[in-house]
Amino acid sequence: MTYQTINPYTNTLVRSYPDAGNSDLEDALARGHALYKHWRGGQADLRSKILHGVARLMGEDRTRLSGLITMEMGKRISESQAEVDICISIADYFADHAEELLKPTTLETDTGHGHVVKQALGVLIMVEPWNFPYYQIMRVFAPNFILGNPMILKDASNIPACAQAFADIVERAGAPKGSLSNLRMDYGQVDKAIADRRVAGVALTGSERGGSSVARSAGEHLKKSTMELGGNDVFIVLDDADMSEVARLAPDARLGNTGQVCCASKRFIVMESKYDEFMDIMTEAFAKPKPGDPSDPATTLGPMSSVGARDNLQKQVDAAVDAGAHVAYGNERLDSPGAFFQPTVLTDIAPDNPVYDQEMFGPVAAVYKVESVREALDLANDSSYGLGSVIVSGDPERAERVAEGIETGMGFINGPWTTAPGLPFGGVKNSGFGRELYTYGFDAFANEHLILDESGR
Ligand code: NAP
Repeated sequence: MTYQTINPYTNTLVRSYPDAGNSDLEDALARGHALYKHWRGGQADLRSKILHGVARLMGEDRTRLSGLITMEMGKRISESQAEVDICISIADYFADHAEELLKPTTLETDTGHGHVVKQALGVLIMVEPWNFPYYQIMRVFAPNFILGNPMILKDASNIPACAQAFADIVERAGAPKGSLSNLRMDYGQVDKAIADRRVAGVALTGSERGGSSVARSAGEHLKKSTMELGGNDVFIVLDDADMSEVARLAPDARLGNTGQVCCASKRFIVMESKYDEFMDIMTEAFAKPKPGDPSDPATTLGPMSSVGARDNLQKQVDAAVDAGAHVAYGNERLDSPGAFFQPTVLTDIAPDNPVYDQEMFGPVAAVYKVESVREALDLANDSSYGLGSVIVSGDPERAERVAEGIETGMGFINGPWTTAPGLPFGGVKNSGFGRELYTYGFDAFANEHLILDESGR
């Protein structure tokens, strides 16, 4: 059994779950396909009501749902509650905007009167990670439920309780069976599902490694796909930045969710005149969080998601230091059975350092000093990734020009990286392709079906 809940705070096994059998997959495919055919006739109003019901039930069950996240992947309880809240807002957003998002586009052309209707495509496979157990599912589920695409979920193997809790809420809200089938599949079964002719597409959020494998399978079988992958996002401090704003934003931009956020700021690029002050801010702030029980609201540093994830991060930091990186703060082993990693600040990462172009998925900040905006942009763009950026400057227009110069899918000026249902989310380069949330997320798996009336020609 590969699906297990291991509490990362204590590193103890809580429960093992049975894997999905091939007959479970066949049942989910058959049920999903039948539902797709049934839904093609409409019923978006009904689905909108059900989706509001999902939001309501999540609100009523907020304490239990957030506790499950904290127990399975170690997120601090206040952050788990915030995750449930954003899920509620995403569900309500797509339910509220259903009519407008589905509205046909009218086309007046020389060839006739046309319109484009947005229709479902069919069953989707959804492969999701553990770092935001409900939010990642909701980003795909809410828009596609409104559209009428039934979904089969393969969630990360370390959060089986969260995956089942989400699927149960969808069922309790009155969604027909097959709307979201949670299957504890192995990788071979995911490939098998993608190859099946009843499946129309696959959405994956995860690492480059997982994304590349699933995208290969989607390509081989000509299935539409979206890939939301890793990042090595920059946080740029310009020479006119208000350093009290920097102090408010920078440490949290790295330490939220114990550093395990795709669009967290990971590389801090600071102009020379602000560098010393910036290092004081970061080293002081990184010394403050203290490890503790993530279910205690007073805890300031939660564990990472697993001991394995912590050990992988340690290997990256060790390799960075061996290659000449300087530890400005941290990197001391914390004495605990849990998956704790001391917040760490690294400097002197040369381009030939192994971590220079790697994502470090934990509480480790890499800081770089630059002499000009040009140098900051060149460094920011010298990356395989392109998810997001944060720019802090006293001149927002200048900051916008800098943000536009960075090869990413998202840029945030004088504020934290953020997410909301009305903001498109996604990246370029090895951070993936396609967008989730907003209209773009709604359209990702829509058949934009042209109907052209040429009778008058
Ligand atoms: P991961 O190892 O790629 O796992 C993500 C999901 O993909 C899990 O369900 C995993 O299943 C599955 N998976 C991996 N390889 C697969 C394969 N060959 N075939 C089928 N399924 C496969 O990623 P992770 O380490 O858990 O997640 C962290 C990564 O996600 C980071 O790189 C982070 O930046 C990225 N992320 C990106 C976004 C975004 O929106 N861009 C958001 C959040 C996270 P198992 O658990 O069974 O291995």
